Amino acid sequence: MSEEMSKQSEVLRIRPHHGLCTAFFRGEGYSGSFVENMAQITDLLGKNDPDIIITEGADDICKECPELWQGSCRSEKSDKYDRMVLNICGFSYGERISWKEFSDIIRKRIIYPEKLDGICKDCRWFYICSDKSTGDLKI
Ligand code: SF4
Repeated sequence: MSEEMSKQSEVLRIRPHHGLCTAFFRGEGYSGSFVENMAQITDLLGKNDPDIIITEGADDICKECPELWQGSCRSEKSDKYDRMVLNICGFSYGERISWKEFSDIIRKRIIYPEKLDGICKDCRWFYICSDKSTGDLKI
């Protein structure tokens, strides 16, 4: 996340399935700059509980991802994951919501009832999120 972004209003753009990725983030990711940006964003979300805009397509986490190509994710899986999270949690694209409320709904409807593998089992990072020994969720 740029310094400019942190000085702006704290409203962040977050795509639905990133409510899962942020919960289990433990410092691994697609590249050094991706990990650095993800760490800054998860820190900000956890500490400040900003409002977020539930975003269709690339968001503030995607910005530093090497999988982002011409403004969109190269992987078709990400849109599929988003749609599933949206449907299960009853969110809408463009909705503004506090981070905590967003995150609580995702925990109650997906993470605690152990529905994660029905959404993103084919993700390359699933081994992290399915590793129950990681204990507490990140944020
Ligand atoms: S893989 Fe796709 S959805 Fe995930 S952070 Fe990168 S660009 Fe965004």
